[in-house]
Order: sequence, then C-alpha cells, then structure tokens
Amino acid sequence: MAAVTILDVLRTKRDGGELSDEQIHWFIANYTDGTVADEQASALLMAVFFRGMSGRELATWTEAMIDSGVRMDLSGVGRPTVDKHSTGGVGDKISLPLSPLVAACGAAVPQLSGRGLGHTGGTLDKMEAIPGWRPQVSAAEYLALLADPGAVICAASSNLAPADRRMYALRDVTATVESVPLIASSIMSKKIAEGTESLVLDVKFGSGAFLVEEERARELARTMVDLGTANGVRTAALLTDMGTPLGRTAGNALEVAESVEVLAGGGPPDVVELTLALAELMCELAGLDADPAAVLAGGSAMDVWRTMVSAQGGDPDAPLPRAPHVETVAAGADGVLTLLDARSVGEAAWRLGAGRSRKEHPVSASAGVVWRARPGDPVRAGEVLFELHADDPTRIPAAREALEGAWAVGDQAPPPAPLVAARIDGDDR
Ligand code: URA
Repeated sequence: MAAVTILDVLRTKRDGGELSDEQIHWFIANYTDGTVADEQASALLMAVFFRGMSGRELATWTEAMIDSGVRMDLSGVGRPTVDKHSTGGVGDKISLPLSPLVAACGAAVPQLSGRGLGHTGGTLDKMEAIPGWRPQVSAAEYLALLADPGAVICAASSNLAPADRRMYALRDVTATVESVPLIASSIMSKKIAEGTESLVLDVKFGSGAFLVEEERARELARTMVDLGTANGVRTAALLTDMGTPLGRTAGNALEVAESVEVLAGGGPPDVVELTLALAELMCELAGLDADPAAVLAGGSAMDVWRTMVSAQGGDPDAPLPRAPHVETVAAGADGVLTLLDARSVGEAAWRLGAGRSRKEHPVSASAGVVWRARPGDPVRAGEVLFELHADDPTRIPAAREALEGAWAVGDQAPPPAPLVAARIDGDDR
C-alpha cells in the first residue's frame, strides 16, 4: 500500500472524498508530534468544515484523538462514575452545584474542566475565584477525591487527548470551531479518555450557545450520544435553551456566589431547575436510586462542596473578590422585561474582564454582569436592571455598548420557552 502523504489527505477531503482509517490515524499522530505543519492541518480542518465526515470517519478520528494520549482507569474508585459536559453558555455555572450534588447522591463525578474562551465562561476560571483554590491535583489525589467525597473539579492532565489540545487552539484561530464533527470528536475524545462510565451532555442552543440553531444543536447532541454509546460510555443529552442567560450573574466570583446559594437551598429557579434535571439524569445513568431534590434540601451537597474546595487549597468561608467599580443600567419606562439576550450579556461580561480572547490571557475574578430582572419580570422606570462590575473602570463603556439592544421593556413578555427542550438517549437504552 502507498505511504500516506499530507497532500493526498488534503486533496481527498477537499474534493469531497472519504479519508481511509489509515489516513486519519496517520494525520492525527503526525499532527500531534509536529510532523504535519499548522498550515496543512488548517487546510484539512477547513475542508472538514465544508465537507463534513462520514460516521466511519468520525468514529476513527475520535479514536485516533483518544489514542494520542492516555485512557484513564477509574474502576477502582468504588462508586459508579458519571460526568457532565456542557457545550457552554452565558451564566452557565451548573457544574459547581451539580458535581457535589451528584456525589452526595452516591456517584463519583470526574469533572475535568477547562477555561473559558470568548463570551462563555470556563469552570476552572470560576473555581479560581475562590481564594487559595488550585486547579492541579496529582493522579493519586484525583482518585482519592473521587472515592471521597466523590467529586473533583480540576484541570485535565496534558496527556489526555493531546491531539485535541493542539487542534482546538488551531481551530480557534482558523474559524473552524463551529463544525459538528470537529466539536463532537473534540469533546467526546476527552470524555471517553477520562474513563467515566456514564456521561450526560448539556447541549445548548440559542444566541449564547456555540450552535445557535436548535436543529444544529440536536445534530451535535445525537452525534455525541452515538459516539459515546459506540465507545461503551452510557451517554444521554439534554437540549437546553441558551437564548436567555442562566441565573442572575455572569462573571467568575459572581457565579461562585450564586452556586453556593443553590447549594444552600436558594438560588435562581432556572439554575436550580437545570441542576436538578441534569442530576436526575446522571443518577439514572449511574444506576443510583436517589432523589437529587431531597439531597439538595438535606444539605449534604453543601458538605461535599466544602470538602472539595478545601481539598484543593480553597477556603469555602473566605469572602469572594469584589470589583472596586460597579455601575448600573436602569429601565427607562414602566412595563415588563420582554428580552434579555444571552450573547450580548456574555459579551458585556467579557468586555468587563470576566473572559479572555486568547487562551494565555488572565481573567478577572471579580468582573462581570448582574441582571436583576429576567424576561416576564415587572420593572419600573428608573429601576436598576444591570450591575456592571469591573476592576478597571475604563472597561465599563464598552460593556454598556454591548448591552444596547440586548434587553427591552414592553407591555407583555412572550410566553417562556421551556429550559429543557428535549432529551436524547443512546440506542443502548
Ligand atoms: N469544547 C470543546 O472541548 N471542543 C470544541 O470543539 C467545542 C467546545
């Protein structure tokens, strides 16, 4: 058989052909070790963006990404393992209350998390707002925390799907992120390599999501559920609405505070609803006969949270950082809030310093946006609708600009859309 060459790989995909298994394994291995140059990989990613992948190509591509690193073995933790992955949204802090809650229900939750890029926040950035908390744990600490208290939120080690690490950075600068096969293989290679037995996906649609159209999000959810199932991971997805931001806050410390409110039995109703919906599905896949709402009300999820935070050097009782500059946006008329656009709110939080545009940039722990009203809430002229929190006051005008057109006050709000639009199961269920 002729040796694989990068030009053959590129021509095949460019012209709409199917790559062979050998070509895919060759490409992923040679891109990961630096033999294939970034400009050649960029050309292939753009060709995949336009041409897509067949089911076989996607399965092989994902397998090759997994095989670029290690596959972890969690069989010794003594609890059923179940993880959650969200495709990312504005105000999406659900991992923070969810992980300790599902651990308190009896599972082990291996939350290998990432940092935020663009208008969506990252779980590690949020956790790092807690004074003293560190994202790195050793392999031994990781397994010990999964056994007790049953959840760990930490950075993935560099040998977990390293092909994805390089490729995701390249996709980010070549406008090739929004491709269903590339997103699905990126997310699922990491989750399968992580060694979890079960996985719940929160796939978002709406203005604040990666894939705005519900049908594209459904296609992504179906693709990821099928990939997980084919790789022996019990996988299901919820399709959830990200047209309106979740909760009342977007920004790292602000979202930690809101998550702690949920663990204390309060918090915004939509955050509680989504946390419980995901927890119920995680318990179901893990085979646990638990009632997450009762567990949350009983306070044991808060105990797990405190143990998790302390185990990684954080002080669960320390005051969270607060921004020195807070300005407000007020309603101009009486009425009802009819619109709150997730993407614009995410953009405003990002401009205030809560997010980054390059992965090496730092983020502010205290910057962000608080919205005091949600669609359907009555508002009065002069009432504060938004708080803009910043370390650097010169960032505030650009955040105000991002919010222009992002909200509206009228006579009547449109009927609320359900937060959870659909559930998608694997064909093993
Ligand atoms: N998150 C990932 O890990 N990969 C993607 O491609 C998109 C979101």
